[in-house]
Amino acid sequence: MKYISTRGNAPKLAFDDVLLTGLARDGGLYLPETWPQFSTEDLADMKGLSYTDLAVKVMLPFVEEAISREDLSAIVSDTYAGFDSGDIAPLVKLGENEYVLELFHGPTLAFKDYALQFLGRMFDHVLTKRGAKLTIAGATSGDTGSAAIEACRDRDNIEIFILHPNGKVSEVQRRQMTTVLSDNVHNIALDGNFDDCQNTVKALFADEAFRDQVHLSAVNSINWARIMAQVVYYFWAAFKAGAPETSVAFSVPTGNFGNVLAGVVAKKMGLPISQFIIGSNANDILIRFIESGRMEAKNVFATTSPSMDIQISSNFERFMFELLDRDSSALNDAMEEFKETGHYAVTELFMERLKEIMDGERFDDDATAKIIGEVHKETGYLLDTHSAIGVGAARARRWDETVPMICLATAHPAKFPDAVEAASGVHPQLPEHLSDLYVKEERYIELPGSFNAVKGYIETTLKERGKL
Ligand SMILES: *Cc1c(COP(=O)(O)O)cnc(C)c1O
Repeated sequence: MKYISTRGNAPKLAFDDVLLTGLARDGGLYLPETWPQFSTEDLADMKGLSYTDLAVKVMLPFVEEAISREDLSAIVSDTYAGFDSGDIAPLVKLGENEYVLELFHGPTLAFKDYALQFLGRMFDHVLTKRGAKLTIAGATSGDTGSAAIEACRDRDNIEIFILHPNGKVSEVQRRQMTTVLSDNVHNIALDGNFDDCQNTVKALFADEAFRDQVHLSAVNSINWARIMAQVVYYFWAAFKAGAPETSVAFSVPTGNFGNVLAGVVAKKMGLPISQFIIGSNANDILIRFIESGRMEAKNVFATTSPSMDIQISSNFERFMFELLDRDSSALNDAMEEFKETGHYAVTELFMERLKEIMDGERFDDDATAKIIGEVHKETGYLLDTHSAIGVGAARARRWDETVPMICLATAHPAKFPDAVEAASGVHPQLPEHLSDLYVKEERYIELPGSFNAVKGYIETTLKERGKL
């Protein structure tokens, strides 16, 4: 299996190179050259598999020639061994033909663990084989940082530096990062806001000499290996809800479009999915796009679903590439226009094709709180703010009541306790394995919001660790 860039101007790579590269050299995103196919018979055979066996079956065609079946199988087993549900991703029935797929049974209680726990182990495997090392740098406003830290902790080939805005992330989120005392984990509380953190990280990547010297890499959601690991739970949930004998629909609370894209990939591979619904908060660039055919960036608002507070959805590019029948030149034109003007428009034909499979809805913070309260009253089930947007969007936009609707629950309610309690009157409890979070020792360094301070700290730390 080889991978090509959406922009059509980067070398074709094998899976292990795509894993370490992230963004393609032409600025595009890597995708498999062809989509592996499962027939209805294949699907019927896959239906009884355990989560880990299913994961190997679904991912093997994507890694062929780069990773052996035995290695993939060992990595997958290790990845999900620590999850706190035997089912890994339990499907819970909310009502008639309405389900919630719980994707918060990993170490940091958000769906990002399903991909990042895998990615960290994959990195380690490939780096060990090559005798190579990586320095990972990232900025976080909350969720991604803790999931990345949990994924990379105690891995000999990786040093990870995560910047968060000092005093501006929730206490749960900060503690999930700073109570990881592993020697290769370095938390930086930066004097500034999230944009300052992100700009500092961007400047590190732009410093080519530094980037090469420390083998700088990222773990953001444009990495193909993350999407690939997420494809698995679409198959898993669809089977539990009746596929392949019936088609199913998915509703996905969406930010960067990585999660819903994994569902689109599952459909490409033969899984019968009749509709995708995307849910947004007040940062509704995708909903405005569905309504108007025009993609336009605006300022970011802070909401009670902070993991979806995005300006643009970077993974939308892969979806667009597919809807354009992989026409790189048309895609380049749109991306060029976006870079220059902050917006682009697509053709009517493009929108027709999109609307054959996708719909979406937006909810502000009040509407989100209302959904949490209603669902809790109706069913006793407690949704977090992100998952509530998925359920709300499903109810507002589903095309066919007879098709099972699977709403992705992307975070545990205890990650956002204040908003959930205000909406439902119930204080969500942290699961057992995190119950000591508020008493554990924290470790982080406070730095001024200056590029040189951060760069200097990384250099000094790598030297002390014998990595430079
Ligand atoms: C990251 C995140 C999302 C958004 O997922 P995308 O793949 O960026 O669309 C939704 N909910 C939670 C809880 C998240 O952490």
